[in-house]
Amino acid sequence: MPSRPELGPKPPLGYAQSRIERAAELRPDDAVIARLMAQPDAGAYVIGGDSIVLKQGAPLQEPLFTLAEARALHAASETVFLGLLDGAARFGYGLPSAAAEALKGHDGYHVTDLRSIAVHGLVAPEHLPPIAEAKAVLHWHQRHRFCPNCGAPTQAVQAGWRRDCPACKAEHFPRTDPVAIMLASAGEQCLLGRSPRFAPTMWSCLAGFIEPGEAIEDAVRRETREEAGISCGRVTYFRSQPWPFPTSLMIGCHAEALTHDIVVDRAELEDARWFSKAEVESMLLRRHPQGLTAPPPVAIAHHLIRAWLEDEIGID
Ligand SMILES: [Zn+2]
Repeated sequence: MPSRPELGPKPPLGYAQSRIERAAELRPDDAVIARLMAQPDAGAYVIGGDSIVLKQGAPLQEPLFTLAEARALHAASETVFLGLLDGAARFGYGLPSAAAEALKGHDGYHVTDLRSIAVHGLVAPEHLPPIAEAKAVLHWHQRHRFCPNCGAPTQAVQAGWRRDCPACKAEHFPRTDPVAIMLASAGEQCLLGRSPRFAPTMWSCLAGFIEPGEAIEDAVRRETREEAGISCGRVTYFRSQPWPFPTSLMIGCHAEALTHDIVVDRAELEDARWFSKAEVESMLLRRHPQGLTAPPPVAIAHHLIRAWLEDEIGID
């Protein structure tokens, strides 16, 4: 029962709810992958480092290239089979960063970073999850050219989903790095912080990498204590979001704050403070009297904050 109808219908979360069927069973068969690649309905997302290459269009840009179009831009540094969309194969086509940069300003292409694409809605929303998938795996390839076990050059296999070491026979798989992102609250107040990297008006949820040997709940409590000096009790899972900057998975949680006095870790945060529900609502609606803002709907922080405002968090 939404208590704040003024916020309107819930917007979708960025990069999540992919329609791609990953079809992992097809990955080991090079002949099947080659046949899928040659089909006329096959499409590729072209990515060079942090740059995504789009075809100029109106009103939206077009992110899908045919394989022939992609190859005409530059030879692939790596190709990854993302899966099938209604039977049509989708690939991530990796370029050297310099080759993507060189397309900037060329007629017919728009080259930009994924954050800008998502925040400004430059492509149809259903393209965001497969672009995120492609960007994360291609980044992993870039950074894993050599075996971490013996140092020999590795080779991509399994349609881009594994790298094998011919010297020591080790098999290496793409990584996902879990990050806990949390909204701590007590009654009518919630805790938001500001990173020095944020736009000057923006406040958001605290977040931090989950460390080896650490449960999600413990990471939520540790990060909130370390960054803001606040102790938390109950932690509830909210939802998660792929965050391909470069290869994270954001795990969103709500936490019950047990203490009130904030001690900001200035090495991590510029500031942290308590916000009332009325103030946070005005930030989501971009009507705050001092112009303060909360993250846009593409980010899970927006949804964590909104769920708290609408009393949908399972913590009293
Ligand atoms: Zn090796």
